[in-house]
Amino acid sequence: MQLRCVDCGHAMPADVRYACEKCGGILEVEEPIGTSIGDHAYLRRTMWRYADRLSVADAGAIVSLGEGCTPLHRAKRLEASIPGFKGEIWIKDETINPTGSFKDRLISAAVSRARELECRGIICASSGNAGASTAAYAARAGMDAIIVVPTRTPEEKLTQIASYGALLVKVDGHYSHSYDVAIRLAEEQGLFNVTTTFLNPYGVDALKVVGEELAEQLGGRVPDYVLVPTGAGPLVKGVVQGFAERPGGRLPKTVAVQAAGCAPIVRAFERGEETVTAWGEPQTIASGISDPLIGYERDGSYTLRLVRQSGGLAAAVSDDEIRAAMSDLARMEGLLAEPTGASSFAAARKLIETDRISRDAIVVCMVTGHGYKDMKVFRSLPIRVSHLPAEPDAAQLASVLEAQAARRIKLMIVS
Ligand SMILES: *Cc1c(COP(=O)(O)O)cnc(C)c1O
Ligand SMILES: [Zn+2]
Repeated sequence: MQLRCVDCGHAMPADVRYACEKCGGILEVEEPIGTSIGDHAYLRRTMWRYADRLSVADAGAIVSLGEGCTPLHRAKRLEASIPGFKGEIWIKDETINPTGSFKDRLISAAVSRARELECRGIICASSGNAGASTAAYAARAGMDAIIVVPTRTPEEKLTQIASYGALLVKVDGHYSHSYDVAIRLAEEQGLFNVTTTFLNPYGVDALKVVGEELAEQLGGRVPDYVLVPTGAGPLVKGVVQGFAERPGGRLPKTVAVQAAGCAPIVRAFERGEETVTAWGEPQTIASGISDPLIGYERDGSYTLRLVRQSGGLAAAVSDDEIRAAMSDLARMEGLLAEPTGASSFAAARKLIETDRISRDAIVVCMVTGHGYKDMKVFRSLPIRVSHLPAEPDAAQLASVLEAQAARRIKLMIVS
């Protein structure tokens, strides 16, 4: 096992490092050492069932809360809600990961590796989800953790992070400011930096398992499209790499989905450019992908390269389209997703309705984060409520039935 620069190809030992010593480029794990979990019943039901392909040598170092191996649901009611659609829409439900987002996959791998490298503590810059994940896995491992987040992070995410006992550091400004603070603190305090951009190669490496899971869940079929809510892009890499490493290596067209108010990768894609430039001031309800990439633009350029390599595209969705997708996922499929998590379906609907994705395609939407993490958006959506006194009379009871009968919902027949 060693680390290799994705830009210049230089190889380095697999120790604590975050960038190429020659060119500053992104590092990836090459020939991961892997380990055997034997017939460990608990780990077999987590992403560690692929431990032979991950970057931990000692199974005893694994820190797990049950991450990965998430369900893939066929979303027939969503399919029926798109005029003329005859393909398949599948939802990869990452909201059921232990702390409510797919970040648990990365952090489980990175914290396990931190243990193996005998690091004394960990630090993470986060827009909320990676921080919650880091705090939880640090608690499980008995390690100290510092979580650096933008002051404007949703309240639920801040409470979640602090509740796991980590030190929560709020930094004014946007995510890139938190990112810089974490790098400075990591250096000064000798902490392992598990920030979930392309900084930590061990965490990013574990995301390839997502591609593997999808292929297995689809019975070996390769979907036509996988839509991925995208900040810096490690999850895009996970999907592309996961399929690339399978026999045959056929890739789904991978779609990087960003919010219109913070879309550096989409902008470069649409202009036909090869390098991504930083975004000015992010403006979106999708906190999980509100990353302007200032100072690490090369993360965006790398992601763009992977998107093009897969024959995919990059697309932006507005906050209103995201709100509509949150409502659709909740009301038609029983899935509560935070704005970022719902952006993938928002983009799927838009791309199908504008004929950029064909109406007979097999489409997978990565729903990456749980709705509980940002409830204020749901509070702004219309709901149906009836209120009764403690001992309602017959007329009051009847009012509930009237309210129920008055609902104007078109029935859809789903086979
Ligand atoms: C971090 C995050 C993303 C973006 O992931 P990247 O791998 O940084 O592109 C998407 N969705 C949610 C819910 C996230 O927390
Ligand atoms: Zn290099």
